[in-house]
Amino acid sequence: MAYINDNFTKIQHRYLFAEIAKRVAAYKEANPAAKIISLGIGDVTQPLAQVVTNAMHKAVDDCASVSSFHGYGPEQGYDFLREKIIANDYAKRGITLSTDEVFISDGAKSDLGNIGDILSVNNTIGVTDPVYPVYVDTNSMAGRQIRYIPCTAENGFTGDIPSEKIDVMYLCFPNNPTGAVITRQGLKQWVDYALKNDTLILYDSAYEAFITDPAIPHSIYEIDGAKECAIEFRSFSKTAGFTGIRCGYTVIPNELNIQSESGNRVALNPVWNRRQCSKFNGASYISQRGAESIFSPEGQQQIHSIIRYYLTNAGIIRQSLQKSGLTVFGGENAPYIWVKTPEHDSWKFFDHLLHHAQVVVTPGAGFGPSGEGYIRITAFGTKESTKEAIERIEGCL
Ligand SMILES: *Cc1c(COP(=O)(O)O)cnc(C)c1O
Repeated sequence: MAYINDNFTKIQHRYLFAEIAKRVAAYKEANPAAKIISLGIGDVTQPLAQVVTNAMHKAVDDCASVSSFHGYGPEQGYDFLREKIIANDYAKRGITLSTDEVFISDGAKSDLGNIGDILSVNNTIGVTDPVYPVYVDTNSMAGRQIRYIPCTAENGFTGDIPSEKIDVMYLCFPNNPTGAVITRQGLKQWVDYALKNDTLILYDSAYEAFITDPAIPHSIYEIDGAKECAIEFRSFSKTAGFTGIRCGYTVIPNELNIQSESGNRVALNPVWNRRQCSKFNGASYISQRGAESIFSPEGQQQIHSIIRYYLTNAGIIRQSLQKSGLTVFGGENAPYIWVKTPEHDSWKFFDHLLHHAQVVVTPGAGFGPSGEGYIRITAFGTKESTKEAIERIEGCL
């Protein structure tokens, strides 16, 4: 007889975006003429940079002749991309990595979930709250216990260092959903905690390209000791508009090792390599060539101009709502603005904005208990729709 993994029957229903869609659909049906603007979902709107489309066109042409055709690639990714990542994303910040420490993937979401394959089900998982749902859902599917670390205005949305021992801790800065960043000093406290407690940090820096303040770290490996306690996840999705193309990478330093159930220390890098070789057949040659192209001087200039476009939207949202008397956070080194709701109930404010401004935002309560009392607004819209949405919101406060 076949039995289901019962963790899936117990897991909380994906309530947040389904509930938003339901409420928007109901409003649309009652108001068919309404022109709704969504600043809710975390997807990009601007087309790919020219360097990327050129590189991908060329990669397709490569595959059209016998001499340059590419079939299965290395499970770990092509060296042409791993070397550029190391040189540009790490060496320039004083971090030394070898190619075998970088694993190319089809995006960070898969790796952030899949990493659980190599970790015991007995680990307690710490997440900052409010939280990107992937960390919670994938660990619940495996049957792990989750601890929520509250991120509040009082602690700058970076979470207080826990007094209890947590085995595995997810951190994400710049943060989705709050747009908060962490200073070197703040991140050092987490690294010190991890080294002291033998905690594994899973560091999600999917939004590092949005950092404008030179004092904010882009990588956890800028902190001494982090290579002994942290895995870093990155993605081309928000950096270069790859949400539909799919490419990301995970860094597992060779010196990173953790306890096995029999008591000896085991290096994680070869274990993850084994996992990937058995369960993953590599990201496509075409997407890896596209990703590689952003590291040329021209590519850097093009992707940063798109990032500046989104950060300009973020600035408009931030400054306008602040002028209107709302309390806002984030939006300076991140594409998300975290807005304190005038009344406590974030779903109520969501409904108010849907009904009176025809603007869709994301209620903070959907990201975890500490998200209540806030909404998330994204800067990923077009400049025109962002401006109009904010004017409408201002008109109904
Ligand atoms: C968008 C996002 C990612 C990247 O996901 P991909 O699978 O690479 O598209 C990772 N972490 C967070 C918090 C995100 O918001």
